[in-house]
Amino acid sequence: MPDEIHLLAIEEIAQEIKKCKKCPLYQSRNNVVPGEGNHHSKVIFIGEAPGEEEDFKGKPFVGRAGQLFSKILQSVDIKRENIFITNMLKCRPPGNRNPSKSEIETCLPYLEAQIALINPKIIVTLGNIPTQFFLETTKGITKLRGNWFDWLGKIKIFPMFHPSYLCRNESTAPGSPKAKTWQDIKTLKEAMDKL
Ligand code: URA
Repeated sequence: MPDEIHLLAIEEIAQEIKKCKKCPLYQSRNNVVPGEGNHHSKVIFIGEAPGEEEDFKGKPFVGRAGQLFSKILQSVDIKRENIFITNMLKCRPPGNRNPSKSEIETCLPYLEAQIALINPKIIVTLGNIPTQFFLETTKGITKLRGNWFDWLGKIKIFPMFHPSYLCRNESTAPGSPKAKTWQDIKTLKEAMDKL
């Protein structure tokens, strides 16, 4: 597909999301947060849902957790503009509550369309919500993170801790979530360098 058409298709999905009223979250949102980054990226990072700051700015991971997320990426020289970052939900759930099952199902076609177009080799799921959804499991992120899983036979899923969880768990001691994330981001970077 020619590059301009590819970009247009990604932007069209974002335009559809802007108009979306398929679930009640449209009533409380300031902005939709379709996602951003390189539409040719071989890696997509998927979070849970926009928070307050993201809802104000219309961009993913720009609040406190987002700043930590950027630092984690920078630590192994992954540039935000080279990857694609999005969320399961494109609108903020009030008070940052967990997305409901029905909100996830309603919003899913947008994420599916983004994945189909970008056609990544790796999907990094951040935290329990996207990880349990993609892996169809009730196992927790603590057990799943740092491991590779096959998805639809051609994409690898790599779960990592959610940056908000890391903001609440400051320790960097061996075995801490932050120490494990440091391992995970290095593992991910090695895999990305081989793509
Ligand atoms: N948490 C998420 O899961 N996504 C964001 O975009 C911001 C915070």
